[in-house]
Amino acid sequence: MIVTRFAPSPNGHLHLGHAFSAIHAHDLAREAAGKFLLRIEDIDGHRSKSELADTIRRDIEWLGLEWEEVPAQSNRLETYREAAQRLTDEGLLYPCICTRSDISEASHRSGPDGPIYPGTCKKTPPENSLPAALRLNFGKALSRTGPISWRDTHGHSIAVDPSYIGDVVLVRKDLPSSYHLAVTLDDAADGVTHVTRGSDLIGATHVHRMLQELLGLPVPVWDHHPLLLDQDGRKLAKRRNSPPLADRRASGEDGRFLADQLRQRKFPSGIVLEMA
Ligand code: GLU
Repeated sequence: MIVTRFAPSPNGHLHLGHAFSAIHAHDLAREAAGKFLLRIEDIDGHRSKSELADTIRRDIEWLGLEWEEVPAQSNRLETYREAAQRLTDEGLLYPCICTRSDISEASHRSGPDGPIYPGTCKKTPPENSLPAALRLNFGKALSRTGPISWRDTHGHSIAVDPSYIGDVVLVRKDLPSSYHLAVTLDDAADGVTHVTRGSDLIGATHVHRMLQELLGLPVPVWDHHPLLLDQDGRKLAKRRNSPPLADRRASGEDGRFLADQLRQRKFPSGIVLEMA
């Protein structure tokens, strides 16, 4: 059975881009009589708000989607800790004390998540006493697993390439996990067979596929959909160029009609779909 999910972070309101993504995941499952899950990604306890999670539920209900909700990330912290410990014991993580600005100054390459980590703390390990994040030694991991690849829903097979995104953080300084580790473990625990998300997250897929291999998790297929862009070609962002769905809902707009328009790729003026 096909199982898809929508996994929003309740740190802001949903906008049209999220609606497009949620509908995409929902319809992929529904057309195959599968299951569509909602998972609230509230790993970042400081920025996540339960009122926003409620607003998100009301927004997707307004769009006419039906879902099954699985436990939010804040309930799963122990699983993240255990997996991180296992990777640490296998010597695949290294501590890093670099700040964002240290990284942008020292990095020579940019990836999908911004500057690629230049490996400063891999070359010179920091003192033990300093608060550190843990990064995946992606090159070492790949030499351990041998070549691996991920598959998209069109049947293409893409080789996992560490240089694409670099040594990402798996355990944050302030939390037992980062997005990458949490989402990979959650998708496995929730039985997600088709991971659907925006094309801006293709880089993350290289990391997630590697983590599945290292942790012996089931391997889904991926479906990266094109993003909605504004007229300047920028992706929609909560604060910048896309009013919240909640405002549309409050103004009496018909959410099911909007969802059908998005399905037919008819967008409000000023919004276009990214070219494949
Ligand atoms: N919480 C992530 C976000 O809102 C989910 C991304 C994903 O689908 O993996 O961007």
